[in-house]
Amino acid sequence: MPIIINHNLCDEAPECGGIEVCPNGAFNFDKKKKRICIDRSKCTECLKCTLPDCCPVGCILYARNTQEEKRIRDRIKEDPRTAKWLWKERYGCQPAKTTPKATILTTSNFEAMMKKKGYKLIDIWHYDFLDCRAYSVLFEDLLKGIKAKIVTYKLDAQKHPGLAKILKINKFPTLTIMEDQNEIWRLEGLLKKKSAARTNLEIKKLL
Ligand code: SF4
Ligand code: SF4
Repeated sequence: MPIIINHNLCDEAPECGGIEVCPNGAFNFDKKKKRICIDRSKCTECLKCTLPDCCPVGCILYARNTQEEKRIRDRIKEDPRTAKWLWKERYGCQPAKTTPKATILTTSNFEAMMKKKGYKLIDIWHYDFLDCRAYSVLFEDLLKGIKAKIVTYKLDAQKHPGLAKILKINKFPTLTIMEDQNEIWRLEGLLKKKSAARTNLEIKKLL
């Protein structure tokens, strides 16, 4: 049974993880079509390409039988996400292709951020939580219509576990709002689109 690519969401990158891991050369980048292709005759169904680290947004899918293949293809048709989705800034991860608008926290600017006065929103994300890359809410939806001046930051907890510890973060992703040096609000876990409006309202009421 076949490997299926969600071409609506896939960014068709020649550096595709599938090409890298496939031991049989079944994955390839078609330069003419500018598209990831699979040569089914070479695929031995080793499933290496379906491991989460291979495609961080889950575009590589496997169907065990024809019913499953139909179900997967129907799901792809109904999925409203496109590759552009991957290039926007979301809660719980960093955009795949563009530089985040938020300031990236490191050991060199963390202390200055902590001392800074005013509202600060910090997105503490971790590479292991792959669902965020594929599903979580866009920052622009999360902060829509918020008039208060709020400076946004992102902290990669995998690279800087010590900084996450200073903020007392135990779950990933976590979104926290600080007023001066005090945390005034916290949200833990994946935030899907259906909860975005409610969270946006909560932040609006708070600031
Ligand atoms: S890693 Fe995923 S999104 Fe990127 S090119 Fe490969 S299948 Fe597409
Ligand atoms: S299942 Fe294995 S052989 Fe088939 S495309 Fe994926 S990595 Fe290649």
